[in-house]
Amino acid sequence: MEEGRIIKALSGFYYVKTEDGSIYQCRGRGVFRNQNITPLVGDLVTFEYEDPNEGYIMQIKPRSNELVRPPIANITQAIIVTSAKAPDFNETLLDRFLVLIESRDIQPVIFITKMDLTSAAEKEKMESYRKLYENIGYRTELLSMKDGQGFNVLEHYFKDHITVIAGQSGVGKSSILNMLDDSLDLKTGEISESLGRGRHTTRHVELLEMYNGLVADTPGFSSLEFDTLEANELSYCFPEFRERLGDCKFRGCMHLKEPKCAVKAAVSTGEIAASRYGNYVRFLEEIMLRKPRY
Ligand code: GDP
Ligand code: ZN
Repeated sequence: MEEGRIIKALSGFYYVKTEDGSIYQCRGRGVFRNQNITPLVGDLVTFEYEDPNEGYIMQIKPRSNELVRPPIANITQAIIVTSAKAPDFNETLLDRFLVLIESRDIQPVIFITKMDLTSAAEKEKMESYRKLYENIGYRTELLSMKDGQGFNVLEHYFKDHITVIAGQSGVGKSSILNMLDDSLDLKTGEISESLGRGRHTTRHVELLEMYNGLVADTPGFSSLEFDTLEANELSYCFPEFRERLGDCKFRGCMHLKEPKCAVKAAVSTGEIAASRYGNYVRFLEEIMLRKPRY
């Protein structure tokens, strides 16, 4: 029995890569088929083969997480790409991505792109955002594709990780992937649209090799709805709230009107950014107003 990771799924075949770099074309056959589990890109599997083009996946190792769109398992980080300009930096949208990623137990990283388009005042503003998010514990980079700002540090972000890139359309996701590996030549302005609009008829997902890590060729978190998140889970998706929850007077405090709330106290001293608290309240309302799903 061999072991490897599925790096690509296409037309009923799974492409399994072993430690020595060989790739085997496999179909599903093992016990997991009785358990209603479908192999996913990112899965660690055991397989058997007679010919490298005719392997059979026998077992899927337990997953640390899985996404539905794109269908990938065992993601170790999500890089949120957001631009300083064109489109303008939007902290509510950034916080929304952060919450969605946190809710899946995936570690977020923040890339702020298109720094070459910013004025001196805007640069300063982006530096202050960097500080804000780094204080929360998120690694944050200011980048530019045009002059290569920040690219010397990129390598270590990808090494040993399975990365999904997230972010709204036009922020520079494909440009970053292209810059990292010219041989990829993803069409700029294309991959970000590949989901949700039926442009791709086959559900083709692939993990690309990048600096000794793997990166999904399709961006994640294209749906920005808090579909499955419950109101009482939201504060756990804000790390700076999470660490204070034990200090609120009331168990199950929602940090709204309750007295002796440690979160609100930290907002009033500036330890928690007002923008983050504002977005928490906004997202909470959105979740509470969500139509029940039957
Ligand atoms: P995606 O939709 O997130 O994949 O974004 P793209 O990579 O397709 O980029 C959208 C547009 O922004 C393209 O025209 C890129 O050339 C441009 N772009 C990307 N990064 C930068 C940057 O750092 N600076 C400038 N000035 N333009 C950029
Ligand atoms: Zn509270």
